Amino acid sequence: MIPITSFKDRHVALFGLGGSGLSTARALVAGGCRVTCWDDSAERVKAAAAEGLQTADLESADWSAFSSLVLAPGVPLTHPVPHWTVDKAREAAIEVIGDVELFCRERRHVCPDAPLIAITGTNGKSTTTALIAHLLKVLGYDTQMGGNIGVPVLDLEPPVLSRYYVVECSSYQIDLAPTLDATVGIHMNLSPDHLDRHGSLENYASIKERLVAGAKLAVVGVDDRLSAVMADRLELSRKPVVRIAGERELPEGVYARQGELFEAADGAQTPVVSLAGINSLRGDHNGQNAAAAYSALRALNIPADHIAEAFKSFPGLHHRMEVVARHGRVLYINDSKATNADATARALSSFDRIYWIAGGRAKDGGIRDLEQYFPQVARAYLIGEAAEDFSRVVSNHRVPFTMCGTIDKAVEAASRDVATDGAAEIAVLLSPACASFDQFPNFEERGDAFVRAVRALEDIERANEEVA
Ligand code: ADP
Repeated sequence: MIPITSFKDRHVALFGLGGSGLSTARALVAGGCRVTCWDDSAERVKAAAAEGLQTADLESADWSAFSSLVLAPGVPLTHPVPHWTVDKAREAAIEVIGDVELFCRERRHVCPDAPLIAITGTNGKSTTTALIAHLLKVLGYDTQMGGNIGVPVLDLEPPVLSRYYVVECSSYQIDLAPTLDATVGIHMNLSPDHLDRHGSLENYASIKERLVAGAKLAVVGVDDRLSAVMADRLELSRKPVVRIAGERELPEGVYARQGELFEAADGAQTPVVSLAGINSLRGDHNGQNAAAAYSALRALNIPADHIAEAFKSFPGLHHRMEVVARHGRVLYINDSKATNADATARALSSFDRIYWIAGGRAKDGGIRDLEQYFPQVARAYLIGEAAEDFSRVVSNHRVPFTMCGTIDKAVEAASRDVATDGAAEIAVLLSPACASFDQFPNFEERGDAFVRAVRALEDIERANEEVA
């Protein structure tokens, strides 16, 4: 835990007592701050009080006593409407901040030179964060990973000079971190997502931009137009910028092409990392993630050949194109995190011969946008509520399909069908393009069900047991 000593003897209001809210309250108290906690859920308030935290109804509290309002990242700061505690804070003219802001202030207070790599973007945040943490760890650095991935940032070890922080930031967390000052700030990409919480794409983009604008060095993905404009704007404001791309060559920066990372500078294109054979980093999108990770480590003066070597052992993340087993030429892949067509497109574009398990609770648009990948699909195995709808789409494109209902049945049917397929590499891929809620509490449990079904098959060779 990181005790927030910079808030010693202050009195703050804290709203939102989920995992990261509780962690924040504890860190503040440990640093000598007085914290008055509250939540809409009586149960959470009770749990906080039971562990000795001070609780009081903030609705009727005296706000002139507080120096700050600390919000959990799930609580709306602006959209669709500010939470009522935010109105109270504005009336009392006090700041509204979150756990990442507290981390940054503490780091400045006790060890401003402890390297901090902060990562944001619409997609690829977790993969890039885990990849950077993996590279640093393999290369022997004291590495702390957290934030929007794994553990809350204030549950990490306190800052010391030789300790590297790799922190994933959601836009909600950036919104609550006005002085976020990373050593390296990474912005991956932008696509419309969470607009309900940020109003417009421009507002959403400007929040993400704050993370890179506040960093010493900005690493910016330029595969989408809005992010490319962001990189230009940052450079105009004299921010050092490294551009990265997963889908095209760049005259200057780091990009991926056909399984290789290149560094482009002064008219020269130097191959720096081979991604060939690294199953956890297949696909253009992972090229972008790899380019970001490489750029961050280079910015910290870590030698290129060391970085290249460390890439080879990246195990990937659970439920994201995770190779969970092998049977001869057949790879069994868990991509349960793909809860929409956009994410599934990434998986379908990464393999040439696919036995595709799809379905669940469909999102708007279903799988219509995936038609261009259907030639790679040998057969679809349809599950969940969306099965009927999806069967119409795939059969319109002459993709054979089997109605399976459940993941178990789909795995069983696919494993039988692949036996007669002569292709050099075959993927049995769970990439549902759907939410899981019709059959599972969350995508993790859906992925676990797939893994159990695969492991129950005969002669299967398990893979990737030590995923990040
Ligand atoms: P996040 O943490 O931003 O949600 P993840 O790394 O967990 O991102 O990846 C979520 C999904 O997004 C993956 O299943 C993959 O399909 C897709 N994805 C991963 N990296 C990228 C990227 N750089 N660009 C676009 N999509 C990506």
